[in-house]
Amino acid sequence: MQNNNKNQQKRPPVSFEKNRFAFIFTILLVALFLFLLLFNGNGPSIELPYSTFVQYLEQGYIESVTIYDYKEIHALTKSGVGGISSFKSKIPYPDEELMSLLREKGVAVQGAGSRMSPLTIILNSLPWVLGFIFIWFMFRQVQGNGNKAFSFGKSRAKLYSDTDKKVTFEDVAGQKEAKYELEEIVDFLKNPGKFTKIGARIPKGVLLVGMPGTGKTLLAKAVAGEAEVNYFHMSGSDFVEMFVGVGASRVRDLFEQGRKNAPAIIFIDELDAVGRTRGAGYGGGHDEREQTLNQMLVEMDGFDTKDGVIILAATNRPDVLDPALLRPGRFDRQVVIDMPDIQEREAILKIHARKVSLDLGVDLQRIARATPGTSGADLENLVNEAALFAVRNGKKIVELSDFESARDKILLGVARKSKIITPEEKLSTAYHESGHALLHYYLEYADPLHKVTVIPHGQALGLAISLPEKDEYTKSRGWIVDRIKIAMGGYVAEKLIYNQTTTGTKKDIEQATTLVRRMVVEWGMSEELGFVAFGQEEEPIFLGKEIARHKDYSEETAKKIDMEMDRILRSCMEATTKILTDHRDQLETLAKALVREETLDDEQIRELLDLPERVKRDLI
Ligand code: ADP
Ligand code: MG
Ligand code: ZN
Repeated sequence: MQNNNKNQQKRPPVSFEKNRFAFIFTILLVALFLFLLLFNGNGPSIELPYSTFVQYLEQGYIESVTIYDYKEIHALTKSGVGGISSFKSKIPYPDEELMSLLREKGVAVQGAGSRMSPLTIILNSLPWVLGFIFIWFMFRQVQGNGNKAFSFGKSRAKLYSDTDKKVTFEDVAGQKEAKYELEEIVDFLKNPGKFTKIGARIPKGVLLVGMPGTGKTLLAKAVAGEAEVNYFHMSGSDFVEMFVGVGASRVRDLFEQGRKNAPAIIFIDELDAVGRTRGAGYGGGHDEREQTLNQMLVEMDGFDTKDGVIILAATNRPDVLDPALLRPGRFDRQVVIDMPDIQEREAILKIHARKVSLDLGVDLQRIARATPGTSGADLENLVNEAALFAVRNGKKIVELSDFESARDKILLGVARKSKIITPEEKLSTAYHESGHALLHYYLEYADPLHKVTVIPHGQALGLAISLPEKDEYTKSRGWIVDRIKIAMGGYVAEKLIYNQTTTGTKKDIEQATTLVRRMVVEWGMSEELGFVAFGQEEEPIFLGKEIARHKDYSEETAKKIDMEMDRILRSCMEATTKILTDHRDQLETLAKALVREETLDDEQIRELLDLPERVKRDLI
């Protein structure tokens, strides 16, 4: 299941228009700058021969001169010598007499360094100009928003105002326990006196913990909507920027804003982006993140709940958080946001189905039943996909079939009807999938089959899909053994029909092997080894969900484990082969029908194979 987290705030990309404007602006500035430099440096525009200069000097027409590095001379004349007030001359050779002549005539003399040619000026200033442009663009890039350039350390926290559409607890289906805890926070923010009078201490920080898409962000918004206090929202990833120190100053700013606007809620979404355990060697060189986290810890210690500021945070990885964050006085209260159960799923569907026009025949309870293991975000997505299917089919209302297509799309990935498959491959896929499918009807603990298809989905050439009848959190040994047999069904069918198997069995073999191994080493489901767990799981912080096992058993035990696995696999294989051999005629019928129809559901299969109707049929 995908995490459809749509609440992450993406910064708007720097728009091309704005950039072009800035670019032209910069060019104009630079041009003006150069122009002024050149104009100033050029001096008098009239150039006269040196001989003329000397002549004027001797005649006493010159008022003052500036000599440039003994190469060029700029002269100001006494009021209007032939209409020329100033001119310049090149000094052609070292003139020994010039000095005495100037002194004799009482001319004011100034010296100056060599005059730069315009080209030198441009070449000299080029690095500066380019550097300036570069830095300027970097700032804009980092800042994202052109008009906010140079306001780095400011938190970009969002303040929810009354104009935003308010989210309340009504908009959050289920989550009773979480709501109960959060209501207390709301209550406190509304009238703190009630709590402080008896001396009750309200938690400073509340951490919402739950899988992606379970509604953590939604709940935080609902708290703000209910409490009617100022609400600052920032995502953990917003703190972490490319420049060291920026994150820390953003944290400082965020808390300052919160304090200034108390009573207030500060919500830090995806806390794990900043709050990972320090010094865990995550990628290396994460000084910036560490500084940000330290600043957060300092800020959390530095204020009192009496100030009327409460910090909410959300994460789906509480295991990677720095323990310092979870100490008393920080996020000392954790609220677990669970995946929804059947009733909650129905309630969530109801909330989102309000937005679309539903056909009367759509029973949301049935849909809830048929979507085990999905999150609130998935269900929202499901309703939307169903509406899209309805539109695509030119309907005005959303029907049950649209929900079914949507669910299959979300659960199985998009059907790839365009994939080209040879007829032989299609037939062998049909046998393979029929092998899986048929077993569902002959195994005691197997989930009912939903449908079987030979239309490629993603990597798979075909699929046999089952659906559990109810939400189950634990599985029995019988269910697992039957699951292994079902996984073997494809392989066994191929072997029966073609006397050889294909590479299409890879995933099935993997699945069966994993299940058998876990039966033996984790779940105590082997008679031989019994109640024992081998190779305890460890979850090192750095590896995230990667589970490392360490071997804590002897070679002898290893051999026993292998033997037990082998024994279980063999007995499953035997049982599977027996079922499919006994019902080979049905296997053939089903496979041929599949080649023709491409997809068959439970009802069609029962009719085709003359099987009794299923008693309980809640699934869509
Ligand atoms: P999280 O932050 O836990 O990843 P979100 O709060 O972003 O999840 O949830 C994503 C969307 O899923 C929400 O915007 C909402 O539409 C829907 N959703 C999730 N849980 C619920 C719920 N309990 N009730 C109603 N809608 C929900
Ligand atoms: Mg979220
Ligand atoms: Zn298979």
